[in-house]
Amino acid sequence: MINVPKGTKDVLPQDSYKWQFVENKARETAKVFGASEIRTPTFEHTEVFLRGVGETTDIVNKEMYTFNDKGGRSITLKPEGTAGVARAFVENGLSNSVLPAKLFYITQCFRYERPQAGRLREFHQFGVEFLGAKNADIDAEVIILAKTFLESVGIENVVLYINSIGCKECRKKYEQALKEYFNSNYDGLCALCKDRLNKNPLRILDCKNDDCKKINEGAPKILDYICEDCSNHLETVKKLLDVANVSYKINPNIVRGLDYYTRTVFEFVSENIGAQGTVCGGGRYDGLIAELGGQDVPGIGFAVGIERILMLLENTNKQIENPNKVKVYLAPMGENELVKAFELTAKLRKEGISADFDHMGRGIKAQFKYADKIGAKFVAVIGSNELASGVVRVKNMQEGTETDVAFDDLIEFVK
Ligand code: ATP
Ligand code: MG
Repeated sequence: MINVPKGTKDVLPQDSYKWQFVENKARETAKVFGASEIRTPTFEHTEVFLRGVGETTDIVNKEMYTFNDKGGRSITLKPEGTAGVARAFVENGLSNSVLPAKLFYITQCFRYERPQAGRLREFHQFGVEFLGAKNADIDAEVIILAKTFLESVGIENVVLYINSIGCKECRKKYEQALKEYFNSNYDGLCALCKDRLNKNPLRILDCKNDDCKKINEGAPKILDYICEDCSNHLETVKKLLDVANVSYKINPNIVRGLDYYTRTVFEFVSENIGAQGTVCGGGRYDGLIAELGGQDVPGIGFAVGIERILMLLENTNKQIENPNKVKVYLAPMGENELVKAFELTAKLRKEGISADFDHMGRGIKAQFKYADKIGAKFVAVIGSNELASGVVRVKNMQEGTETDVAFDDLIEFVK
């Protein structure tokens, strides 16, 4: 037997409807906020992520699936959605059409990580990118979109953390302070953070290493360093979240893993699913589009991990109704009856009613068992009497009631 590669998973029929449920909610929520779907390739030139995600991030440092294709080009499977969307935005000149461009995507992502609950090598994200607006109201909108989505799937016990990581200008001062602090704690840092210290000390705050985490607790806090504009920006976001009745906590330790973030950053975290509790992360990235060769177009977005959403729903015992159950099951008792069942099923399906009949030559008892397994709502046995009279007895499996219905009235009856 050949197994799936480590860190990947099959989504089986008994679970796929849950995925559809979450994806449908994502699409519906995006729609009411005026966002349209964008689909970008599964792989990009590696450079898109080197520049768009950043060379000092965990993703670029150790998590990318990068390989040379047969033409010798360096290709990378997308580890996240934003960089590809930004590349497409620039390449297709979307900044010349309507702004803000409100985009969303649902995509698989690939990261070479140590697989564990809620951490896979192939996983899925629902993400949103709003490009072109620099004002703080759109930050609030994007955060509220994420919250609306989480609520629509039935997730309520999550904490929203927000923070500002300032702009290029105020971050310089902050980075200087961080460098001084981490230099005085240099020996305790992990090898990667020692390297980050000179390249991008902010990234150290995002390190998962326990020793680094301890050192991080005493590090200078960004909010003591941000400039007046950045501070006002954050205040507006907070004010609008208050207006929308969205509660949040300011958390100065949220810096996000990606290099291109500026100002607002946020995460939705659940206490219910253990270490992999971050279900959604996002923020403003005013420098990204220019970094990828576009104009100076600001942007903000987030990504939600779909596996983590499903984990949360599982852990909180939220029931999702399976909409794919067969509604009408016809149980023919012989060959002639099977032809009738075949005909009736076709008629029902034409009306958009899911219907099925026996394909296995089973006896009546076994057919009822099968109908029960597939969750059929109505079952009708067709025997020679029914063929002769043109009337079947339809059993409502949920209520246990039985009704005689003419073949011609079957569609109306089950509708
Ligand atoms: P973490 O801190 O858990 O590693 P991250 O900061 O790397 O998360 P992002 O890059 O912000 O995550 O991705 C957005 C969301 O995608 C995360 O909040 C999470 O829900 C999900 N996610 C990220 N990596 C994985 C993974 N390997 N497996 C499953 N879901 C993931
Ligand atoms: Mg990660």
